[in-house]
Amino acid sequence: MTAKTASPEATMGDTVADQLRAHGTRGVLVQMARRGQIIQLRCEMPKCYCHKGRGYFEPRSNPLPDWAPSPDHYPRLKADGGHLVPWNVRLSHVLCNREDYGWRMRIRRMLEKGMSLEEIAENLNHKRIRRPHGSAKWSAMTVRKAFVS
Ligand SMILES: [Zn+2]
Repeated sequence: MTAKTASPEATMGDTVADQLRAHGTRGVLVQMARRGQIIQLRCEMPKCYCHKGRGYFEPRSNPLPDWAPSPDHYPRLKADGGHLVPWNVRLSHVLCNREDYGWRMRIRRMLEKGMSLEEIAENLNHKRIRRPHGSAKWSAMTVRKAFVS
């Protein structure tokens, strides 16, 4: 980051918007950065899978790289009628966004079926659902923690 004498807040906002644009990002994320609603280019998902860290991003291209920036529908999922508007977006990696959606919907269906957290953890481990970087395997605790975050 280059040293600037302007007010840190304004500079930081411009910088994040510039960084997002440099990564081929358009739309709501850039708008939020310009409004000072995103502090830094960092994956905000509860579980980040990127081994190079939450702050590592690749530019968007075709096909979409796993570590490109992506807007995640949060707190209201797209499946629940959520839209990509500033109150309903968090910044994520493409892959973290996809994985989060995958296990979230699986856990939800199993909760609806009346399964216990222990049974759900066993199911996720058995189906080899990708575990968050840093945790050994799914457990009742990690299932609950992930689902409510
Ligand atoms: Zn991530």
